[in-house]
Amino acid sequence: MISTEFEYARATSLDDALAKLGAANGGGKLLAGGHSLIPLMKLRLSEPTLLIDIARIPGLSGIRSKDGGIEIGASTVHHDVAASDLLRQSCPVLAEAAADIGDPQVRNRGTLGGSLAHADPAADYPPVMLALDADIHIKGQSGARVVKAHDFFQGMFTVDLAANEIITGIQFKPVKSAAYAKLHQRASHFAIVGVAAALDVSKGVIQSARIGLTGASSHATRLTEVEQALTGKAASAENIDAAARLAGNSVTDVNSDLHASEEYRRAMIPVFTKRALSQALSRARSS
Ligand SMILES: Cc1cc2nc3c(=O)[nH]c(=O)nc-3n(C[C@H](O)[C@H](O)[C@H](O)COP(=O)(O)OP(=O)(O)OC[C@H]3O[C@@H](n4cnc5c(N)ncnc54)[C@H](O)[C@@H]3O)c2cc1C
Repeated sequence: MISTEFEYARATSLDDALAKLGAANGGGKLLAGGHSLIPLMKLRLSEPTLLIDIARIPGLSGIRSKDGGIEIGASTVHHDVAASDLLRQSCPVLAEAAADIGDPQVRNRGTLGGSLAHADPAADYPPVMLALDADIHIKGQSGARVVKAHDFFQGMFTVDLAANEIITGIQFKPVKSAAYAKLHQRASHFAIVGVAAALDVSKGVIQSARIGLTGASSHATRLTEVEQALTGKAASAENIDAAARLAGNSVTDVNSDLHASEEYRRAMIPVFTKRALSQALSRARSS
């Protein structure tokens, strides 16, 4: 199918994009990489009257150190996240998750902000945002606000973002002892089950754990039961194994679709939870 007719405008700045969104009276849609929006338009599941291209707004892309953390602009493409030396050295989990998204075409056009705003239930960034406890920076015409990742993802393709707001970027404290493990669909590389785990280990004891799950249910969620089971425990393979076993039954609304049944996904959640936790633990030991 082809999309309905629409106008196209390139925004020159964040304020220009916000003004264009406001003037479009609800008919405007931001266009970043277009890898999620254009397919929806072709299926006529989205029928904007105006596309506002934000891909070339100066300052909206890039990866930099800021206030002891890392800041990534919303228009940063997956390839740049995957190739970042700063991330590879200080927070490899995010670079590795980006490298595992789709194919080179998708990684060269698709953006971090587009992925977070679209919130596909099988997307790779959301569980990593949960594991890193990232802040999502948002701007609207009435001002800026910051939302924690665990409050941002609210349901299937549903996030805490108004139609007239723009994600400007994310900020987080880098975590070396974190890892992402994914069982992917062969064709698209989207997650059938994907788990991102971050561990804080001190003197051989797990002080805290944050674990994000994608692909398995309506939206990315934290595996809080597994996190609690690990907290305060010795950082051992046995404890990780025991905690990961809890993962399959701790999720209530497991998806069933043409890629995998609910039963299969439920069986894979502990497998990939254990993989992510084991790699995070090995990174904690070597850092
Ligand atoms: C073949 C294929 C394979 C893929 N495989 C994977 C995969 O393995 N893993 C994965 O995670 N993803 C995958 N994707 C999705 C890909 O990562 C998309 O690039 C991403 O979901 C959307 O980013 P985009 O920049 O293309 O956004 P767009 O398609 O331009 O926009 C998506 C939505 O976000 C809104 N939006 C965009 N930017 C902003 C912003 N800054 N603030 C507010 N709203 C905004 C748009 O208005 C639109 O509603 C795949 C896509 C394709 C086509």
